[in-house]
Amino acid sequence: MKNVIGHQLVEQRFADALQRGNLHHAWLLHGIKGIGKHTLAENLTARLLCDSHSACGTCHACRMLEAGSHPDVYHIGLLEKKRDISIDQVRDLLGFLALSGSESERRVVILDDAERLNNQAANALLKGLEEPSPGSLLLIVCADIEKLPATVRSRCLLQHCAPLDEPGVREVLQLEFADTLGADAVLLDLVVGFADGCPGAVSCLHERNIIDALQLWSRLTENIADADIAKVENWCRSNVASVPHELIIRVLLQPLYPLLQNLKPEAFEAAQLLHKAVRGCMRWPGEVQRQSLRAAPSLLACLLELRSALRNPVIQR
Ligand SMILES: [Zn+2]
Repeated sequence: MKNVIGHQLVEQRFADALQRGNLHHAWLLHGIKGIGKHTLAENLTARLLCDSHSACGTCHACRMLEAGSHPDVYHIGLLEKKRDISIDQVRDLLGFLALSGSESERRVVILDDAERLNNQAANALLKGLEEPSPGSLLLIVCADIEKLPATVRSRCLLQHCAPLDEPGVREVLQLEFADTLGADAVLLDLVVGFADGCPGAVSCLHERNIIDALQLWSRLTENIADADIAKVENWCRSNVASVPHELIIRVLLQPLYPLLQNLKPEAFEAAQLLHKAVRGCMRWPGEVQRQSLRAAPSLLACLLELRSALRNPVIQR
């Protein structure tokens, strides 16, 4: 079983509730994508079903879980090439929860990508949350809690999962990159920096040339207000096709977060322009995907808007 890294608090709360015998029937694990919420859900499942409630990894239940063959566990999530989770999927889930457990008295459903439930599916789920079947546990994994109806949220036990601290990120990436970059401490440092608390964001970084390109991008855009636009343009032309777009934006915006958090109230209008430029950057990867715009020029346009917002003297002060 994969170890959970970070999220000790949620694990502890779950273990305590289990020990007290008052486990809530629906836990909503929410937090940004790529921090290990699904692994956490699997671990909580193991804690519940394991013979010694410790996710020991060796008992019969744990071994079945490991093999993905435990009859009392059911997974649902976004299916490949689908835009959302359908009502039929939720009906299947509720049907499963209403059965009686075959190996234990328990049934567990892990519902992934809950931010992608469509309206009908969310309504169907609500019904299940209102009348939970005895012995059932629903673990909902959600990357954007704002996209879940308030009625669904209010019937769950909310557990916020925070981005990992640096040692946590390092541990995850060391395991993940053991065969590729693991031995190169300098490279690992770089990738840990790009991850900024979210190991999932950099899991695609297995190629040295992409890391080099990102490092150059990071240097070119470290101080966007004074960035050398000719060099940036050059970079865009040669790298925009090979470096994942989300990562380009992640590295571009990383140095701005402290600034965004410390904007003075009197800089209100300038701050609005800056926020608008940042939102434009964040939308860029999706827009490229949706409209297949020519990626490089539109990235440059995003960056120029950001630069002009940052050059405002009120912001610079
Ligand atoms: Zn076990």
